[in-house]
Amino acid sequence: MTKIAMKTPLVELDGDEMTRILWKKIKDVLICPYVDLKTEYYDLGLPNREATKDAVTAAAADAIKKYGVGVKCATITPNAQRMTEYNLSTMWKSPNGTIRSRLDGTVFRAPILVKGLKVLMPTWTKPIVIARHAYGDVYGGVEGYVPEGGKVELSFPDGTKKTVFEFQSAGIVQATHNTDKSITGFARSCMNYALDQKKDLWFSAKDTISKTYDHRFKDIFAEVYEKEYKEKFEKAGITYFYSLIDDIVSRVMKSNGGMIWACKNYDGDVMSDMVATVFGSLAMMTSVLVSPDGKYEYEAAHGTVTRHYYKYLNGEETSTNPVATIFAWSGALRKRGQTDDLPDLVDFADRLEKACLTTIEEGVMTKDLCVNFEREVRSVNTDTFLAEIAKRI
Ligand code: NAP
Ligand code: MG
Repeated sequence: MTKIAMKTPLVELDGDEMTRILWKKIKDVLICPYVDLKTEYYDLGLPNREATKDAVTAAAADAIKKYGVGVKCATITPNAQRMTEYNLSTMWKSPNGTIRSRLDGTVFRAPILVKGLKVLMPTWTKPIVIARHAYGDVYGGVEGYVPEGGKVELSFPDGTKKTVFEFQSAGIVQATHNTDKSITGFARSCMNYALDQKKDLWFSAKDTISKTYDHRFKDIFAEVYEKEYKEKFEKAGITYFYSLIDDIVSRVMKSNGGMIWACKNYDGDVMSDMVATVFGSLAMMTSVLVSPDGKYEYEAAHGTVTRHYYKYLNGEETSTNPVATIFAWSGALRKRGQTDDLPDLVDFADRLEKACLTTIEEGVMTKDLCVNFEREVRSVNTDTFLAEIAKRI
């Protein structure tokens, strides 16, 4: 069999622990036998981040900017315990944070639906994609405890001051910010993604209460839509819809799904966990970072599955679910194929995804999915599962 050729390299970001093990197996069993894989490889495993003083992460992000499409394995975000475990010189920042700040993107999370896998909301027949703004608000906030009471003020660059509150006794304050540039990028990313996926875009905020802050989000989205996307949306037969967050929550619950739901940073953090839970499992959730200028980084939504890795190191059999990581690869290969006009590569990505779904629908799956399945199924280890997928490509 001749392998499918590629033109431009994919930027490949390797990672840590169990997902690093999965990464190699997926390439060996499901990709390299079919595709003459061209990648520019960056090892983001923690030992190499330490060795390069994390320069490798910045270099990988810049490579995604250059080539346009990357695929990333889950990585450890170091904490105090990892400092000892990996003998680190400093607590390196989250690689995802570094990459997001260099690409200035929005994170889209979508569940992978499989027939037979229980969805907790039976009315949600189509996937709901959460688009989370990954900059600012409470994640970049400044907070303080005011132990004895007193006046807290905000001071602006033009010299004006606004009283936040005059405390008579102890209390707390918080200040958050966002920028027009980041919100505009967020709006463009969401609208590009909606066009790419041919799905309606819903955006929620609380402009009635937050008359300057949330209102700015609403206004920027409306302006970007009117000026740059209205015609394209109409041509594609999709709609843009803004409403208050509480109204959107209620509409989403009543809907059949199928939309992209753009959320402010905190809302996206919370709502993506709700959506993932309803659709079954973190191990069946894809995640893609899209920059305002149309660069894509695909990954799984879950972490490095540390608990399974320690079992694996002990020589125990593991049944880690590789589906979200496979879909990161298929997503990236499809995008590369579309960009480089390689229909065979696009077709391969479709077949690979279909093979995953068929394997599960035919009752062969990793342990995590068995409990949520509606009928008797066969639980297999990761290697057998990958071999079963390969049979169906
Ligand atoms: P995790 O790796 O997502 O795993 C949490 C638990 O979820 C696992 O113990 C497992 O449950 C289940 N699980 C997740 N993915 C699975 C899969 N593919 N197949 C089967 N079960 C799966 O989260 P964590 O343990 O909190 O974090 C581990 C490391 O990942 C941390 O160092 C963190 O910094 C990093 N992390 C990285 C990313 C990223 O790179 N995007 C995201 C999140 C976390 P059972 O043990 O019950 O089987
Ligand atoms: Mg969360």
